[in-house]
Amino acid sequence: MSEYDYDLFVIGAGSGGVRAARTAAATGARVAVAEDRYLGGTCVNVGCVPKKLYSYAAHFHEAFEDAGGFGWQLSSAPEFDWPTLRDNKIGEIKRLNGIYGRLLDNAGVRLINGRAKVLDPHHVVVAGETISAEKILVAVGGWPWVPDFPGSELTLNSNQVFDLDTFPERFLVLGGGYIAVEFASIFNGLGSESHLVYRGELFLRGFDREVREFTRDEMAKKGVNLHFEANIEAIEKVAGGLKVTLTNGETLEVDAVLAATGRRPHLEGLGLDQFDLATTPDGSLRVNERFETSVPSILALGDVIGGPELTPVALAEAMQLVEHHYGETTPEPLDYARIATAVFCHPNIGTVGLSEEEARAQCGAIRVYTADFRPMKHTLSGSSERCLMKLIVDDASDVVMGAHMVGEEAGEVIQGIAIAVRAGLTKAQFDQTVGIHPTGAEEFVTMRSPTRR
Ligand code: NDP
Repeated sequence: MSEYDYDLFVIGAGSGGVRAARTAAATGARVAVAEDRYLGGTCVNVGCVPKKLYSYAAHFHEAFEDAGGFGWQLSSAPEFDWPTLRDNKIGEIKRLNGIYGRLLDNAGVRLINGRAKVLDPHHVVVAGETISAEKILVAVGGWPWVPDFPGSELTLNSNQVFDLDTFPERFLVLGGGYIAVEFASIFNGLGSESHLVYRGELFLRGFDREVREFTRDEMAKKGVNLHFEANIEAIEKVAGGLKVTLTNGETLEVDAVLAATGRRPHLEGLGLDQFDLATTPDGSLRVNERFETSVPSILALGDVIGGPELTPVALAEAMQLVEHHYGETTPEPLDYARIATAVFCHPNIGTVGLSEEEARAQCGAIRVYTADFRPMKHTLSGSSERCLMKLIVDDASDVVMGAHMVGEEAGEVIQGIAIAVRAGLTKAQFDQTVGIHPTGAEEFVTMRSPTRR
């Protein structure tokens, strides 16, 4: 009989915590999870899921406009009703919260409602109960971080933007990362006058330069007002809205300001300060390949360890962690390179592997293949939206090092291409693949002449 109440005590029932709890329990481990907010974490409640639903909603705007060229006449101008979208979204999230609860229940995992505090390397206290565990897993995710400036308390963060009482007719987002470009696109599509303010010369730092420029042009064409090389100096309440003063002297009057300026590990109040755990410069917990912090019985995964803040990464880490601690084999370390990702700005971005700039630095001679075209749908829709596809090939080995797309359903397309890039396939093997016609995605197997070297 174990000397502990549980083999594994998980703090946080987000994507990574729930996956680790269920998978560990399936091996026979005795597992409990503490959660003080909602089941499913950021992704289900204030991230991927509601964002994607809102992105679908925003796309209807263009779909109605595109329909005319195909013969559809709308008898009256479509009207958007924010409370319907918001409340349908709330209903769907409740359904998903229920599914997460049942998943834990069916796996035999005890769920405790409350914020757990770590007392020592093997004890936590939660909801007034002191519990012992052989291992404690910190899977508490991140929390939006907002810089300090006069009026910063008037901003919304990405946890708050989904459930607004009233629809912002004029919307501004600060930042140039995933959340900023996605919400600038979403509110633009839903009908707001939408502004994006970013401190650098071009948003989406770290992505392929050509992808960023193409996205900038497409978002601007769709009506998003882009303010680069600018930051917010101050926000003040004025009659009927918020007056936002930018560092470039410009002032804007809007109804809502979203600060999408990054997220930080949500470690406050967990009792971890006593251990002086090793952290990275941004405050993320440092772990070894077994996901152990510098106190070996305290494990961590997901957004608190500072890798790519993506749900599938947290899920993969959970599977690895369980295999290390409760499995029979030692898994290969997780390959963080070549993780595909999508940004649900409009049009979407899908990307896997190296950007052109990274490939030039890492590979030496490369070939770059690009296709920049008007999708077939828009020959009749009248829309000026274009699509970019791009392959980066290592010249010496012919291996495809990166694939990038900006266009409709780019994430869906790149998910398939990501398998080929992850497998290290060559450009010749891409070329041997017979395309599917007529699709946009067939461009990925028909680009024959390099655009540049
Ligand atoms: P990001 O880290 O992606 O972007 C933060 C942005 O805020 C950057 O453009 C940064 O500028 C800017 N910024 C930081 N500090 C300041 C400041 N003091 N003043 C002005 N601007 C500032 O964070 P997000 O909040 O967009 O998203 C968090 C994470 O969530 C993402 O990194 C991603 O991993 C994940 N996510 C994934 C999604 C997906 O998979 N589709 C969707 C949404 C989020 P600079 O570039 O100059 O540093």
